[in-house]
Amino acid sequence: MFKRILIANRGEIALRVIRACRELGVSPVCVYSVADRDGPWIEQADEAVCIGPAASKESYLRIERLIAAAEVTGADAIHPGYGFLSENASFAGVCRDCNITFIGPSPEAMNLLGDKVNCKRLARQSGTPVFPGTEGGIEDIDEAAKVANEIGYPVIIKASAGGGGRGMRVARSEAELRENVEKARQEALAAFGNGTVYVEKYLENARHFEVQTIGDNHGNAVHLFERDCSSQRRHQKLVEEAPSPGVDPAKRMRVCESAAELIRSAKYCGAATVEFLMDKKQDFYMLEVNTRVQVEHPVTEMITGVDIVQTQIRVAAGEPLPMQQQDIKVNGHAIEVRINAEDPDKNFMPQAGLIETFVAPGGPGVRLDSHARAGYRIPPNYDSMIGKLIVHGPTRAAAIARMRQALNEFKIGPLPTTISLHKRIMDNTEFQNADFDIHWVERWLKSNDHSSAAV
Ligand code: ADP
Repeated sequence: MFKRILIANRGEIALRVIRACRELGVSPVCVYSVADRDGPWIEQADEAVCIGPAASKESYLRIERLIAAAEVTGADAIHPGYGFLSENASFAGVCRDCNITFIGPSPEAMNLLGDKVNCKRLARQSGTPVFPGTEGGIEDIDEAAKVANEIGYPVIIKASAGGGGRGMRVARSEAELRENVEKARQEALAAFGNGTVYVEKYLENARHFEVQTIGDNHGNAVHLFERDCSSQRRHQKLVEEAPSPGVDPAKRMRVCESAAELIRSAKYCGAATVEFLMDKKQDFYMLEVNTRVQVEHPVTEMITGVDIVQTQIRVAAGEPLPMQQQDIKVNGHAIEVRINAEDPDKNFMPQAGLIETFVAPGGPGVRLDSHARAGYRIPPNYDSMIGKLIVHGPTRAAAIARMRQALNEFKIGPLPTTISLHKRIMDNTEFQNADFDIHWVERWLKSNDHSSAAV
């Protein structure tokens, strides 16, 4: 096991990694920017190093400063969390060159799965269902038009190196396809330094279904079943749950197993999420693989009892996976809501500033992963998520009832947060019946009925 882990992140995920370190008897070290000097998570670390000014480009994204901090504090591993450098293969490579273990996949595995064209090719080979579309990047527009005509419109043009929902364009006719391929290529080149784009079928009313997987350095990989993250706004997930409600058990097993097979075939060590869209017929199509721990990992921890962050650390240290597929069972239902410092009544405008009131919910089956507390000043420089509230219950209905009560107990002020929105979501019948797709929140926000719903 490692002696010291440097956490190249901030906020709730830094605290989550500190907790895992403590339980494993590993010493956690934090880095922080000037804006995070008073971050409450820092006091839980054994040591902390300031790595630069507020802007992440000058601090959390500076590879050489992170490596220097690890060397100065004697850390033998780095946990990247999510966001920032967590999916940056050159960071993983620099760590390796400096004899510091990157807690995540090798740069080779990250490149293989992080590049969407490569990933899709490998997925086809390992039996993971993918969208019909061009075999690889588009070489020739006539060839792309031929493929699009075969699969039928609408299609979506996507960047192989894409991320954050950028560089995607939907085409509803051949004329639109011809017009948009070149634009998408230019955009992708400017945004990612790689102009490779491809075309696949565009699914209109899909649900978001993602499989948690984890592999080790001994050729093993398992899945921890799936999460449903269909409640989104602008491609940002708001509510996540596990298991995905109402999915045919045989189809679900097949797709979960295919995701584990994909990870195994990539010789992948660490946690990965294989994301899918699921249509009304419950057919699955892979979107992409995220090569890191995800924000929503706690719902999977709640239903399986597996500590994903500890397992990441164990496999990075060279241990074999501590469990086999047949040991992993699903127990009950878990829901997570993201508590963002945003005003849902003012177009989700981010709110920075002092938290004066912070009353956390509690009781059986209630978990709060948050770095915030009364007296904490939210800096304006980073994303607005200040915590995640997770509940676990025997059934989905029980989990919703538990979440509603937890949200009633949860008081944060004076800043507006998404707590009020989540109360309305828990009371929404579309949500309660799991009669939803990835556009339902936006449709509902546009209609007026959410404002009159019980709060
Ligand atoms: P990124 O890496 O930029 O987040 P993804 O491949 O995960 O890109 O896609 C982001 C979002 O775009 C998806 O969650 C989905 O809403 C939409 N999307 C992507 N591909 C398709 C598709 N083939 N059909 C329908 N929607 C899609």
